[in-house]
Amino acid sequence: MSDPIENVVIIGTGCAGLTAAIYTARSSLNPLVLEGSLPGGQLTTTSEVENFPGFPHGVDGFQLTQNMREQATRFGARFEQALVHSVDFTSLPRKLHLGDRTILAKTVIVATGASPRMTGIPGEKELYGGKGVTTCATCDGAFYRKMEVAVLGGGDSAAEEALFLTRFASKVYLVHRRDTLRASKIMAERATTHEKIQLVWDSVPVEVLGVKEGAVSGLKVRHLKTNAESVLPVKGIFVAIGHQPNTGPFAPPLEVDEGGYFKPRPGSQVQTNVPGVYVAGDCADHVYRQAITAAGMGCAAAIEAERWLAEHGA
Ligand code: NAP
Repeated sequence: MSDPIENVVIIGTGCAGLTAAIYTARSSLNPLVLEGSLPGGQLTTTSEVENFPGFPHGVDGFQLTQNMREQATRFGARFEQALVHSVDFTSLPRKLHLGDRTILAKTVIVATGASPRMTGIPGEKELYGGKGVTTCATCDGAFYRKMEVAVLGGGDSAAEEALFLTRFASKVYLVHRRDTLRASKIMAERATTHEKIQLVWDSVPVEVLGVKEGAVSGLKVRHLKTNAESVLPVKGIFVAIGHQPNTGPFAPPLEVDEGGYFKPRPGSQVQTNVPGVYVAGDCADHVYRQAITAAGMGCAAAIEAERWLAEHGA
């Protein structure tokens, strides 16, 4: 018996993938959703989400993705734990090679997300997610009202995170390994002149303190020119040293930009250079990177896949 040909295979179960699953399932396309190594995506690493519309009192990140999953399942989405190793998009149906078998699909939605880069210093991993180390000021900044926090990095993300945090924190240390910011001129100027932001130049983080207590109690940093170590008395640490989009097995054949993010066709957020193959969420968005924008892209990708199937007689 030959392998079944799926109408739509969605790869990734963050906000983008799950929204695409809800929409395609509700359109009776019986989608197959492949769950990777972080089911639920980055949102599951945030304790409380306060900016997702519809939840006036906030919602637990894990719960939110669980709700989306349940909603997709209710309409017939099928979930499978599987990692795609390689793809063949040269002919129809599209082929997704897993370790031990191949899935055939008429349309594919790639929603594999992006992983924040981490410094790898002691204490960072142990205190990540709800214990003081985070990678998203928009998600977690409000938890640090009137507290001192540190932002790590010197690019646009770090500058943006630091500026955003000035709304809540009493003081924001911006720890950068050089003595100039890589951020765009306007962002750098805003960050370096803000009265609440203290630049910690030529310095690298060495250790996150507070592992025993289960909450961040400080950040040890080392000055690269003097080798002197000091402790910043912070309760929150925002790592903003860039993201790594998870595009591995798909690029090529899917085009990516100079930052490694999927590059949709001009005029579209979700259409790729391969007909019937779409991208959604943080793997294709280095600008907004929000749960709600990822969900929006997932919805758009699902509608495009549905139209493609209708046009091609599926
Ligand atoms: P980025 O530009 O790659 O900056 C990463 C920063 O982290 C750099 O300053 C880098 O230092 C530092 N860094 C990297 N690894 C480190 C490590 N192990 N330890 C300490 N520091 C480390 O990343 P990004 O800021 O996320 O920006 C990514 C892209 O998105 C950029 O094109 C940016 O312009 C864009 N973006 C735009 C906006 C906006 O327009 N509003 C907002 C966010 C991002 P060095 O400088 O020494 O390399």
